[in-house]
Amino acid sequence: MITRLNHPDFDRWATQVRNTGGCRQPIHLRGKVDHYDQATGQLLHRYATRHEPDGILRLPCKTRRASRCPACAETYRADTYQLIRAGLIGGKGVPETVTGHPTLFVTLTAPSFGTVHTRREKNGKVQPCHARRNTPTCPHGRAMTCTTRHSKDDPRLGEPLCPDCYDYTGSVLFNALAPLLWKRFADAVRRHLAKHAGLPLKELRHHLTLSFAKVAEYQRRGVVHFHAVIRLDSSDGPAFPPPAWATADALTHAIQHATKAVSATAPAYEDQPERVLRWGAQLDVRPITLDGDLTEQAVAGYIAKYATKAAECVGTLDRRINPLDDLDAFNLRNHAHRLIATCMHLGTLPDLAELRLADWAHMLGFRGHFSTRSRRYSTTLGELRAARERFVQTEEITHGRLPLFDEDTILVISEWEYAGKGYSAGDQLLAAALTRTPMAMPQQAGTNRL
Ligand SMILES: [Zn+2]
Ligand SMILES: [Zn+2]
Ligand SMILES: [Zn+2]
Repeated sequence: MITRLNHPDFDRWATQVRNTGGCRQPIHLRGKVDHYDQATGQLLHRYATRHEPDGILRLPCKTRRASRCPACAETYRADTYQLIRAGLIGGKGVPETVTGHPTLFVTLTAPSFGTVHTRREKNGKVQPCHARRNTPTCPHGRAMTCTTRHSKDDPRLGEPLCPDCYDYTGSVLFNALAPLLWKRFADAVRRHLAKHAGLPLKELRHHLTLSFAKVAEYQRRGVVHFHAVIRLDSSDGPAFPPPAWATADALTHAIQHATKAVSATAPAYEDQPERVLRWGAQLDVRPITLDGDLTEQAVAGYIAKYATKAAECVGTLDRRINPLDDLDAFNLRNHAHRLIATCMHLGTLPDLAELRLADWAHMLGFRGHFSTRSRRYSTTLGELRAARERFVQTEEITHGRLPLFDEDTILVISEWEYAGKGYSAGDQLLAAALTRTPMAMPQQAGTNRL
């Protein structure tokens, strides 16, 4: 820390650190960018990390996982909020007339894989978990009741009343097949809409576009649910409304039908037959309105919140698990341990190889994307990032770091190589002190070192 603080390039280092926005594990890049005059071939400007502190440029890691980097996850959450919101009320290149399109907020759930500890509230009062008049016992001799009124942070929530009765295999197979179930669901919605309009399926896209944005959310029991905004647009996307027959009612029916209609099959293995998995019976379909129960703000906030959470909130690990790792050494709760062990075991079976369960054991079998949008939903995270990077570049130019060139007349050649990640322990402390300072940080680096 002392060496860093006393180093003549500390100010530049501090600026780099601030530019990463408080990233906990910035990516180190080594390289250069040359600007040449297209006509004469003259080198106009060169930026090389050689002149930067430690000879590297630090860039934010851009993870969406709050457990790895809270600052970058917050950026991801805010960006996700903006683009979900743009798809609901317009903005970021989506016209405001999009508010008039039929739009629903849909939650697709997983089925039950056994009785788990739950917290229910009735009229603001927490109810007993599973109160039964005549205490039933399971084949393992465990009482299948629980009269505890669980607190919100009770670690038992989501854990089975009897782990030996719990269908761990079903749970991880469901997670593994959930992306396929989603795809089949979306196809079935399209099929149903085409049927409703009396059109052949392949004609549908000439009449409307089914646009959606979805996130996966881990339930405490360790299975994924999907929350999605589903909207109907014209065949040209969100700029125009869908045909008059494509109403919110028609979409609701199509969704209700599709949820029940689709299934995905896990292959047979060892002495186990193949297994058909479907969505759970709980389906929530609600219209999104500007002034109703479910506002566009609430939906965008909800989706963005889940976009930064992964399986680790269920108590598992936030990195891949090596088959040679000793699971007992990770200090996991029994439920997470058994979900992971089930993935690791099923992952060794040739019949289930395509589900790659061992690779995704830390995600409890789910290998899909956390937050996805159809092409036409709204802008993309990449576009939002590019806009932010353009802003930073403009700012650098106005601060005299890069000369201003006419984009068409110059040739930019850049060479970059990855040179590591993260901070040393001392740098970590300094970076935290620099970036946890309130927003009103003085602009001139160095005037307020710590
Ligand atoms: Zn980061
Ligand atoms: Zn309980
Ligand atoms: Zn049991």
